[in-house]
Amino acid sequence: MIPYGHQSIDDDDITAVIAVLRSPFLTQGPAITEFEALVCELTGARHAVAVSSGTAALHAAVHAAGIGSGDVLWTSPLSFAASANAGRYVGAQVRFCDIDPTTLNIDLDQLPGYGVDCLVAVHYAGLPVDLSALAADRRPRVIVEDAAHAIGARTPWGPVGSCSHSDLCCFSFHPVKTATTAEGGVVTTNSDEMAERLRAFRHHGIRQVPGAPAWRYDIAEVGYNFRLTDIGAALGSSQLRKLERFLARRDEIAQRYRDELACDDRILLPPEAPAGYRHGRHLFPIRIPDRDRVFEMLRARGIGVQVHYVPTYALSAYARFEPDADVVARYPATEAAVASLLSLPMFVDLTDAEQGTVIRELSNLLIAM
Ligand SMILES: *Cc1c(COP(=O)(O)O)cnc(C)c1O
Repeated sequence: MIPYGHQSIDDDDITAVIAVLRSPFLTQGPAITEFEALVCELTGARHAVAVSSGTAALHAAVHAAGIGSGDVLWTSPLSFAASANAGRYVGAQVRFCDIDPTTLNIDLDQLPGYGVDCLVAVHYAGLPVDLSALAADRRPRVIVEDAAHAIGARTPWGPVGSCSHSDLCCFSFHPVKTATTAEGGVVTTNSDEMAERLRAFRHHGIRQVPGAPAWRYDIAEVGYNFRLTDIGAALGSSQLRKLERFLARRDEIAQRYRDELACDDRILLPPEAPAGYRHGRHLFPIRIPDRDRVFEMLRARGIGVQVHYVPTYALSAYARFEPDADVVARYPATEAAVASLLSLPMFVDLTDAEQGTVIRELSNLLIAM
């Protein structure tokens, strides 16, 4: 099966991991500091805090921003459930806002003008949400970016992760994402205070007591063990050093899909990043009629296409909070997108021959339809 996404690991990555295994620190060592410094350099953020997953990054970010019970968190329903789950972890209410039918990102114009305590903005497929479009008088109290798809992406105001129009930005380094630490995540922020809360939160809530002996720590707010290992961090640094090459290869794959699929007007290609932006290229989600049949037939031919995503409001844990059953009326753009979305294989080690197979099988299928 050709998967829709896959890590790319070379000898440099393996050497970096082995070096940690031979070193005194498997966790809480220098590889973490180096990885965090590299993320700061890449994004331009003042702080980067490495954690155990993208999900932990979102949980830690929402906590660090002071979101909790009584607050309302808004996010895009066209995302992995972790974007919304972050709100549930801290006891906030979660609400969904429909997407823009073209960008497939949250439609900020439909966000309420007041009462939004926290916005989790997802850069779907790697296309950055234009957060500068939020007028100052409509700005949610807290803006968190879910940039799991968008490491390396850029906006006219700086790299995604620079937090030019947000408080915190979360990345995932799961193997299916653009760069990996195996399991892992990072939160970036320009706030010294939030960075301190993030560091305590990932380490049980432990803070040193000023002036007291080194053993005399305190926990004022209970945290978690959300630490990343040095093994993961060393892999992550090695991967980030290749990020430009990874993105260039992903651009190449996207361009070939565009060139060779453009002739069939039943296929709607994903939107390109506007001028001044750079696409993160995590996914290549086309839209196609009779998607379920195409999905089954491609899977049967060994092509691991995927649908991103089941809308979060449709998951049982969220559906019970929806006011009525008429989701089509409430989320028309999400419902229309989800009915036709199909992610084609998109990863650095996808060979030209494999991509040729994907394009050929898809084209043959469409001829027969
Ligand atoms: C992958 C992903 C996450 C979660 O990241 P993990 O590292 O798997 O915990 C969160 N949000 C989105 C949009 C994702 O794609």
